[in-house]
Amino acid sequence: MDKIVSLSRRRGFVFPSSEIYGGIGSTYDYGHYGVLMKNNIRSLWFDSMVRERDDIVALDSAIILNPRVWEASGHVAGFTDPLVDCRTCKLRFRADHLADSQCGRRPSKRPGEHTECDLTEARQFNLMFQTQVGALEGEGSLAYLRPETAQGIFVNFKNVLQLARRKPPFGIAQVGKSFRNEITPGNFLFRMREFEQMEMEFFVPPDEADEWFHYWVDARYRWYMDLGLRESHLRKREHDESERSHYSSATTDLEYLYPIGWSELEGVANRGEYDLTQHTQSSGTKLEYVGPEGERYTPHVIEPAVSIDRILLAFLVDGYDEEVVAERQRTVLRLHPRVAPVKAAILPLIGKSDEMVSSARGLYEELRKRHAVEYDDGGAIGRRYRRQDEIGTPFAFTIDEQTLEDSTVTVRDRDSLAQERLPIGGVRAWLDEALERPSKSPKET
Ligand code: ATP
Repeated sequence: MDKIVSLSRRRGFVFPSSEIYGGIGSTYDYGHYGVLMKNNIRSLWFDSMVRERDDIVALDSAIILNPRVWEASGHVAGFTDPLVDCRTCKLRFRADHLADSQCGRRPSKRPGEHTECDLTEARQFNLMFQTQVGALEGEGSLAYLRPETAQGIFVNFKNVLQLARRKPPFGIAQVGKSFRNEITPGNFLFRMREFEQMEMEFFVPPDEADEWFHYWVDARYRWYMDLGLRESHLRKREHDESERSHYSSATTDLEYLYPIGWSELEGVANRGEYDLTQHTQSSGTKLEYVGPEGERYTPHVIEPAVSIDRILLAFLVDGYDEEVVAERQRTVLRLHPRVAPVKAAILPLIGKSDEMVSSARGLYEELRKRHAVEYDDGGAIGRRYRRQDEIGTPFAFTIDEQTLEDSTVTVRDRDSLAQERLPIGGVRAWLDEALERPSKSPKET
């Protein structure tokens, strides 16, 4: 993990937030390449969930909802972690994670194992951030930052059902920031206090719930495979009854083998009719489907839920590689071309040659209309290649002496380092085609 954190920082993917003030726990800012990569992940998810389907529509609900939403959903009473404090070192631990935590005085021991440890009883701690709405403080103005995007979808169920002219099975997809006052810090982007969730609630007739649950587990697994995640590092894990949330009748996690061990990348849950029933009872508005023949039922809900941050971290871990080429060490991010922040680099071999620069800039202007590409004429060509390798750029087009004679360029492949020559006029079509090709991780052997 240290290598991933250091590369992310060095190459401007992710910075610790408010760093000049000493940072703030479990909160990160994304730099240029991080933003480009997040945009790619978000739109790949949105394309597969909404654009390429007829049965799912989009929504963008507010972050601060009427606080009654969180009472009805069970979050005010139940969205808690059990915590213990140590009166000696003043650190706070999750009671269910003591075995993986370090004593503040003696890090080789677990909390409670050192003679000086003085742990309190476990207390329930609500993970929702509270805020005040309006000018007056007090009970009446209390509100919460949403800890998940799903509830914004449930409370809009009736609007969408009527206006989008849908009938189950149909889904509503939403992407946006969620907030949780997580107590177990560390682990970089895996557990943040502010993260960007992508959730889709799929409403189905009750007797089809099981079938759709399996459909979504498989569909989401395939999505990661198509984006080149290593099969050896992704698995499905069904929750047993004791692990499942109170509302869920079945949950399967897609787990990735992060440096911290197998951990939840995405969760797919069968939430049954729990949410729509709770909001019907609490709001007095009936959230149900009424068919043309008057048949009525409360749809069941299948939910695939994930954060962009955990996906981005999985891709960084999966792609990170070091190798020695021609006696020199190179670090390379073997990202799927569709995930990579920059698709191609355009490099004049000699940065001081006006003719090469002019030809390279012409190609760059053409390609940037369609793709995120980068022009670089500074420093030795080997260093420029290595810079691109570190940010995962799959292709580099180099303009050299021969280009000036026969209008061809070399294309260098990030993974195989193979080079071939192409007519400069064909580069755009070549790149379009290359970005469409299926691609597997060369790390999977
Ligand atoms: P965990 O058990 O790891 O705390 P969870 O079961 O509470 O996760 P869910 O409530 O199911 O997580 O959230 C759905 C998804 O949102 C997760 O699969 C994960 O991708 C993402 N997610 C949840 N909490 C965080 C967080 N603190 N930082 C980054 N992503 C998160």
